[in-house]
Parts: sequence; C-alpha cells; structure tokens
Amino acid sequence: MSKFWSPLTASLEPYVPGEQPKDKAYIKLNTNENPYPPSPKAIAAMTAAINEDLRLYPDPNSEVLVQALAKKHGLAPQQVFVGNGSDEILAFAFASFFDPGKPVLFPDITYSFYKVYAKFYGITPKLIPLDEQFNINVDHYTGEHGGIVIPNPNAPTAIPLPLDDVRRLVESNPEQVVLIDEAYVDFGAESAAGLVHQYPNLLVVQTLSKSRSLAGLRVGFAFGSEELIEGLNRTKNSFNSYTLDRVALAGSVAAIEDHHYFAATTAKVVATRERVRARLQELGFTVTPSKANFVFISHPVIPAKRLFEVLREQGVLVRYFASPRIDNFLRVSIGTDEEMDSFLAAIEHNLAHPTS
Ligand SMILES: *Cc1c(COP(=O)(O)O)cnc(C)c1O
Repeated sequence: MSKFWSPLTASLEPYVPGEQPKDKAYIKLNTNENPYPPSPKAIAAMTAAINEDLRLYPDPNSEVLVQALAKKHGLAPQQVFVGNGSDEILAFAFASFFDPGKPVLFPDITYSFYKVYAKFYGITPKLIPLDEQFNINVDHYTGEHGGIVIPNPNAPTAIPLPLDDVRRLVESNPEQVVLIDEAYVDFGAESAAGLVHQYPNLLVVQTLSKSRSLAGLRVGFAFGSEELIEGLNRTKNSFNSYTLDRVALAGSVAAIEDHHYFAATTAKVVATRERVRARLQELGFTVTPSKANFVFISHPVIPAKRLFEVLREQGVLVRYFASPRIDNFLRVSIGTDEEMDSFLAAIEHNLAHPTS
C-alpha cells in the first residue's frame, strides 16, 4: 500500500501468471505455451520488419492484419478487432459491454483473469457452478445479468462446449453480450466465429499465443458484429492508438497465412495429448476429456499439491491451483513428445516411490 496510489489501484487484485523461473532449466509445462517454434515464415517476416521504418508509428487500425483475418474467416473487416494479446481484448470488452450495475456471469471454475477485470471495472461477477464432471450447463446462465463470459474449451478443465450449446446460450440471452474466449479452440473444439453473422450479441476472442506459438509476440483478435467491434475500437482508442507494433503486424499476418505449418504443429500437439492422456489413465489418473493443449488430471492416491512439489524438484513445472473444487488437480501443458516422456517418467517414479 502506498499513499500515492489511487483508490482504484489500492483496491486491485492483480492476476498472477504461471511462473517463468530463471533458477534452472525446467521442463516447462505450466503456462500452456506451444512447444514448437513459430512459423519460419513469421520469423522471416518479423526479421524483415526490423528496419528503418521503425522510426514511424505503426498503422493504428492494423489494417493488414484485420484484412488477413477477415479473409480467412469470411468476415467483413468491420467484424474484426485486433489487440495486444487476447487479455487486452478481454479487458477492453469488459469496459465496452458490461454495466457495473449488473452482474456478469461466468463459470465458478474458469480463467482467473475474468474476476480481475470485473474487479477493475467495479463489476460484480456471478459464478455459475460447473457440474460434478466440470461440464458447463448453458441453461444455468439465465436471470438478471449484464453479460456472459465463457472460455471454449474451458480453462483449466480443458473441456469443450458443443457449438449447439454456444448457439443456445447466445440465442437465449439476446439483450446481453456473450463473450466466447477461444484461446484453445484450435486444438479440437468447434469455433463460434461463423455465428457472428447471425448474432449481434456474440463476441468471439482468439489468440496467436497458443496454437500459433507466438505467446511472446502478444497478438489476439476478436470477431463480432459491427456494433461490438466499433465498441471495442472506442475503448481501445481511449487508451492507446497503437496496440500492435510494426514487427507484430508483419509476424502475425505471416503466421495466419502459413496454414500448412499451423496444421502440422497443432496436429502434433493433439497426437501427443492423446498419447499422454491414455498413459495417465493407465496409471490411474482421472483425466478430463481435453480438447486443449493441456490436460487436467487428478490421482486417487497422491495429492496434487505433493505431486506438483515433487515434480518441481525433479525439474518439471506444472500448474497447481489452490482453489475450491480443483485443489486436487494439476494442469499440465502438452510439450514435445520428449518432454512428455520425461514428465511421464517422473510421474511413474513418484507412483513407484511415493514417499521418496
Ligand atoms: C492464454 C489465455 C488467454 C490469453 O492469451 P493472450 O492472447 O496471450 O493474452 C486468454 N484466455 C484464456 C482462457 C487463456 O488461457
């Protein structure tokens, strides 16, 4: 606490990201980064963009990227918004579409940043419980409210929501914005991007951080009706005109256009996930039906917190959440086959020597 802080800053409860340790080389399975490098074409485009033009501001409208995304998804450019990571777009969306006087609905177990944004804008979250199997029941998202936020697949459970459920949710809440956060959708879930033509209250948010291996570049995007996109632009242009720099614009366009590389690397992650899931189940773990680039697991005998600690000592970092309902689960990002073999070997060692 400092006497120099505004009442707003003094009241905040900032998000705590997964650790990026520097003390030794870990097998890093704790922040859902992609184990494969970005598209070589994206790297080449970014290298070429490091030139004398950097003295100039970038295009405040990020038109090349908006055009590339519109073309890829069959949308008008007015239905596309881009931002400095999807987290920034989520922050803008909370400001643009939610009313502090009405609660915003999201699952009780979900991406913990949503609560942070709500707090920032003085919006009360109303948490809707997942069922016993951690599934979302969209029929529970009713009553007086100011909007809905749901990740598909959900995090950290990795469980997808069928497109029919998304449609039902959007149709049954026509007076509020329904935000679907598709950070992990490319690993096997169904995107709602195609529905934005039909529903003016649907906002779909995606990112280059996970499936395009560009978490370090900070590029996200959103698809929605013209009025929603205009709302996001009003908020963005009240904070920062230039959210995407010249290098990020060059790299993200190239990444989006390199479909072949994207398809190959996501297929590898999915194949590894299925292999790891099968092996973990053989070892007695409960594994949720993941369509993301991570698995959410629990063991009937070894407490998750202890497993987290011993894995860390053995140089394998995973994510543990000390939160109600999920404090006996671990979230494990899918790495390369080699990394996952090391992870599985460490797990098998711990199961064989539970007290060592
Ligand atoms: C990783 C993640 C994001 C943030 O992605 P960035 O584009 O890197 O900001 C948003 N939502 C969920 C659910 C995520 O897991």
